[in-house]
Amino acid sequence: MEKIGQPPTSARPRTLLKLANEVRREGGKMATCETCGNDYDKAFQVVMNGQAHTFDSFECAIHALAPMCEHCGTRIVGHGLEKDGTYYCCDHCAQKEGVTDLRDRL
Ligand SMILES: [Zn+2]
Ligand SMILES: [Zn+2]
Repeated sequence: MEKIGQPPTSARPRTLLKLANEVRREGGKMATCETCGNDYDKAFQVVMNGQAHTFDSFECAIHALAPMCEHCGTRIVGHGLEKDGTYYCCDHCAQKEGVTDLRDRL
């Protein structure tokens, strides 16, 4: 096959489209959720331990970052209880795990 008349590889429409998409992403309008992979223009970032995480919803942020209650497995979204790096959703759960010297951090 002769290739006379065809544009150089770098200028083919597919490549240009891909480049355009990359430029749009770099513009900061779209961000991809770490949990579900959704591209969303109203995504937000949560900084935890100095590391930024990007999410499209609070639900996804909680799924990825919220600690789990050691006793019942509930995601701790509000003020939980912590003892030596272990989290509990409430005093009841902490007591069930034998932790008694805790008070709600309210
Ligand atoms: Zn998501
Ligand atoms: Zn619990």
